[in-house]
Amino acid sequence: MSDSTSPPRAKSPAERLATPVQFLTGVGPQRAELLGRLGLQTACDVLFQFPRDYQDLTDLRAIRDLEEDRLQSVEGQVVDVDLRETGPGRSLLGVLVREENHYLRAIWFNQPFLRTRFKAGQRLVLSGKPRLNQMRWEIVHPDVQWLEPEETAPPGKLLPVYPLTEGLAQGAMRRISQGVVESLCDAVEEALPADFLAAHRLSPIQTALRQIHFPDSHESLAAARRRFVYQELFVLQLALALKRQQSRQDAHAPPLVSTAKIDARIRRLFPFTLTGGQETAIREVAADLARPIPMHRLLQGDVGSGKTAVALYAMLLAVAHGRQAVLMAPTEVLAVQHAQTLGRLLEQGRVRTGLLTGGLSAGDRQRLLAQTAAGELDILIGTQAIVLAGVEFAKLGLVVIDEQHKFGVRQRAMLKQAGADPHYLVMTATPIPRTVALTLYGDLDVSTLREAPPGRQTLHSYAPAPEQRASWWEFYRKKLREGRQGYVIAPLVEDSEQADATSVATLFEQLANGELEEFRLGLIHGRLSSAEKAEAMDRFRDGETQVLVATSVIEVGVDIPNATLMTIEGGERFGLAQLHQLRGRVSRGNFSGYCAVFAAPETPAAAARLKAFVESTDGFVLAEADFSLRGPGDLFGTKQHGLPPLRIANLQTDQEVLDEARRDAQQIVVADPGLQQPDLARLRRIVFARYGQALDLGAIG
Ligand code: ADP
Ligand code: MG
Repeated sequence: MSDSTSPPRAKSPAERLATPVQFLTGVGPQRAELLGRLGLQTACDVLFQFPRDYQDLTDLRAIRDLEEDRLQSVEGQVVDVDLRETGPGRSLLGVLVREENHYLRAIWFNQPFLRTRFKAGQRLVLSGKPRLNQMRWEIVHPDVQWLEPEETAPPGKLLPVYPLTEGLAQGAMRRISQGVVESLCDAVEEALPADFLAAHRLSPIQTALRQIHFPDSHESLAAARRRFVYQELFVLQLALALKRQQSRQDAHAPPLVSTAKIDARIRRLFPFTLTGGQETAIREVAADLARPIPMHRLLQGDVGSGKTAVALYAMLLAVAHGRQAVLMAPTEVLAVQHAQTLGRLLEQGRVRTGLLTGGLSAGDRQRLLAQTAAGELDILIGTQAIVLAGVEFAKLGLVVIDEQHKFGVRQRAMLKQAGADPHYLVMTATPIPRTVALTLYGDLDVSTLREAPPGRQTLHSYAPAPEQRASWWEFYRKKLREGRQGYVIAPLVEDSEQADATSVATLFEQLANGELEEFRLGLIHGRLSSAEKAEAMDRFRDGETQVLVATSVIEVGVDIPNATLMTIEGGERFGLAQLHQLRGRVSRGNFSGYCAVFAAPETPAAAARLKAFVESTDGFVLAEADFSLRGPGDLFGTKQHGLPPLRIANLQTDQEVLDEARRDAQQIVVADPGLQQPDLARLRRIVFARYGQALDLGAIG
């Protein structure tokens, strides 16, 4: 730097962290643009862009000292590169590396594009688990570090592996990151009080930053990672705890007390004895509703566990207190079905229900909306889309959201009204793993229905091989002749209702002229009008059609007890939860259900999912299985919930840290509901910066 007459004011830590990447050592305009593509604008962004992996050089050896099957690294020079085709779409890339007069071959299967990255004479560090193949050392799919001509492999290190973009080499990215870590770590201020760090065995931020980028050992890396995982989950749980506090503190809801008289009146309506699970859930719901603060409760229960009865109880409790209730379903088919069920149960009483669908005439719609706004309607049923599009209620007391685990905090906020807030009951038949529930629904209380109502018949699931097709259809026809009904589900076509409609129509034609030609078939898919859909469902419900050929529009909630057969085509395209939902349609009545999934799984994970599906009918077991099969790369839908994604925590492997962070967050918010303690000020800012908007936490204040 050149001298100047008045020395420049020293930059504040915040200013240093905000330095645009272009001005960092080793970065110019060109690299700045590449970094921009990775979302890195400032020095601070680079500092918090953590490695996605590490190349393990802690055990760097000479080739002659290698041992089989443990992670080691060797440094050597490329002497030969050989790419061979071993079959259609299959290849084998061999890179022969020499170190003194010993050789090792690195091998890649089916990655021919790697060929261009290796040239004779290059020096490399390879890491992996070597094995002896006919007296020669091999490593399959090793990690590779390309060395510069003068460079030697640093001994005893875990090298960071960063996300890259075309044109940006790992070595360059490492040097940029190293520069930032060395010059800027000290500018980052600690967000957590020192005694808190000590009490929770957390590394201080500056140590953690250095170690997460350039770890000294596996242990120091683990400690650094734990610090960031903890902080990430802690910040999220603090946000959720604040949200929870807020939605219960500032809000007033009508207290809906279930007196003995009301209770008896509601119970008389049920044509069955409630299960123990339903009783418990109703007790929990009633206790919430009795209070003058809004209920925010999630009711989880496997398909067919009888959630509707719990919801009905809550709705009638609201009505008994002169309040309105709204029941929102994700699909019109389901909304119609709910309206029918409620209509039947409430036939004798004075409860006024209305169904709001897209199929209503303008006049009918107007009338219904007017009645709702005037308080002349007690229970409104409709799809979420329609209700959220702006229905006014005279005195809304309760919102029930059915079959929806994608109904986030924000949507819930949309149904606020002036004066009192309604109570919320969110129901889902897609059990989600506990850790995910705590993350996405951390602000909800949860009731769970684990058992099915008595008398449920067994559900048999199969994944037949292609050659068993004929005998499955034989069985399917036999059951139809006995008077049962069945579904056939067409393969899911990605992202297009139009294509879905074509695929299901083709399947319909095939079946009508083939396996099922002697039977009466119906067809339903998302492209049909509301009226057409309703008609198709009615005809099937009345037994006019024996088989319903459908897309996954019938996935949720549809309840037709005589339908006991299901064939699912293209099963590999459906997720495990979706398959489970689908087969839930055929275990509703007094007959055993039978579901066959024809699938061509292409990955081991897909095959394992199918196996789990056939082996268990417990949705909770399947949810955990699905979660562990998906692997950490797969996000769990924070986006759909309107939450920013987790960047470092892994909800599968970091369960313990999650529990700890959650406990700590709750304790803190109970003791200090506004997070006002001076030594929590930084933390508070972090929480609001990350989640303030998504969770509608209000101003930082
Ligand atoms: P889901 O939890 O999937 O929404 P539903 O509420 O649709 O389940 O209930 C599934 C079926 O079980 C319905 O036909 C319903 O009438 C019946 N059912 C619910 N509760 C009971 C019960 N306690 N005893 C007998 N049948 C019940
Ligand atoms: Mg249901």
